[in-house]
Amino acid sequence: MKYIVSACLAGERCRYDGGSNANDKIKALVENGNALPVCPEVLGGLPVPRVKCELRINSNGSPVITGEDGSDYTGPFTRGALIALEIAEKNGITQAILKSKSPSCGSGFIYDGTFSGKIVGGNGITADLFTKSGIKVFTEKNFEGTDPEG
Ligand code: SF4
Repeated sequence: MKYIVSACLAGERCRYDGGSNANDKIKALVENGNALPVCPEVLGGLPVPRVKCELRINSNGSPVITGEDGSDYTGPFTRGALIALEIAEKNGITQAILKSKSPSCGSGFIYDGTFSGKIVGGNGITADLFTKSGIKVFTEKNFEGTDPEG
């Protein structure tokens, strides 16, 4: 198994709104046995559909996940990231392809936490944990050219 991938990219309808972000190339990686799909937010115990959430950095420099309902969802997001990491490590996976801009899966750029559609630099909770744990994180936009058999 080469990659751990965002389940919504593999066609699972696990997005907050009940939809998916199906990507044919990532679906093929899963079908060919080269990728394992996970949804950290569902692994963390959140339902589908669920409240839309965004990440912002608080005054202490820590990431906080807030829902459009004003509630704090940092706990389930963190739990899901830890479970996803455990799954990757148990399967010896060192590369990930994660959905861009998500407060869990986004790497490099995420929504800014104001629910206004504005993008800022930063990582989602899972992408950040993966990166800090030595997993190389790609997005669905930049993974091509990496070797699925490598
Ligand atoms: Fe997709 Fe990741 Fe969001 Fe789950 S947490 S719906 S896998 S972007």
